Amino acid sequence: MNFAIAIHGGAGTIRRQFMTPEKEAEYRAGLAESLEAGYGILRHGGSALDAVMKAVIAMENNPLFNAGKGAVFTHEGTNEQDACVMDGSTRAVGAVAAVKHIASPVTLARMVMERSKHVLLCGEGAERFAVANGMTLVEPEYFYTKQRWDQLQLALKEEAREHKQEAQLDHSDHKKMGTVGAVALDNHGNLAAATSTGGMTNKRYGRIGDTPIIGAGTYADNATCAISATGVGEFIMRAVLAHDIAALMQYKNMTLADAANLVVMEKLTALGGSGGLVAIDWDGNIVMPFNSEGMYRGYKLADGTGEIAIFKD
Ligand code: ASP
Repeated sequence: MNFAIAIHGGAGTIRRQFMTPEKEAEYRAGLAESLEAGYGILRHGGSALDAVMKAVIAMENNPLFNAGKGAVFTHEGTNEQDACVMDGSTRAVGAVAAVKHIASPVTLARMVMERSKHVLLCGEGAERFAVANGMTLVEPEYFYTKQRWDQLQLALKEEAREHKQEAQLDHSDHKKMGTVGAVALDNHGNLAAATSTGGMTNKRYGRIGDTPIIGAGTYADNATCAISATGVGEFIMRAVLAHDIAALMQYKNMTLADAANLVVMEKLTALGGSGGLVAIDWDGNIVMPFNSEGMYRGYKLADGTGEIAIFKD
């Protein structure tokens, strides 16, 4: 038996002193629920693809995390979400970007993978495809949480105070980003990765992040590894983060740990990007590096051992 799963619920400025014991317990419970959902699939001989889907959907449905219900707000006060899923056994991919009425964007991403000949659909077209395939759209109110709304108001106030130019993108990570993702290896030796996000608070102009960009925020290939990233998407895209790690493994024979460490801690850091990822290789080795202050994360192995963690230490 060699299967395993790793998940994340976003990276960013997550400091112990700003976290109450109650909040921490809620996050840990949310992560545990997601981990168990995916692990249950693997333990019963299910596929890595089904496992990462289950794990991500659990966090999309949990208002604590920035995906599905609880997604962050754009500058205009809307919720626009991105998601992606990749099957490492076939390298099939489905992704959606900037969807506004989809309760589970990762479910729609899987539909794109399995029922269309395309890889990435965006906005209205993606939602037309959803309806054509029997998915019910939800009203924008579905995504509302007070915490995310307050975060946007704070961001708008700060922006006004600092007289920032409209076009200036704020790359600082104190806006508390977030994204949810999962990677898994199943008992048949197949890898899969899935990621879903509301993106970044106060984003504008139809901004799309790294999550649905294959090879940036999400990637899976049985020959190397499966990866789901989180952090400031602009840098993750420029780093082609996930594929860079897979390429280092494939072409330079690097281990997952060495490749991920080099790409996150050195290359992403040198670019000025903040974030992290969860990754698993073909042999079930798991790494969860991040250069931000914290990352909601967890993993569980076939023997039932694992860990859930939030802070750096
Ligand atoms: N990577 C996501 C994005 O840029 C945000 C995050 O992970 O916090 O859209």
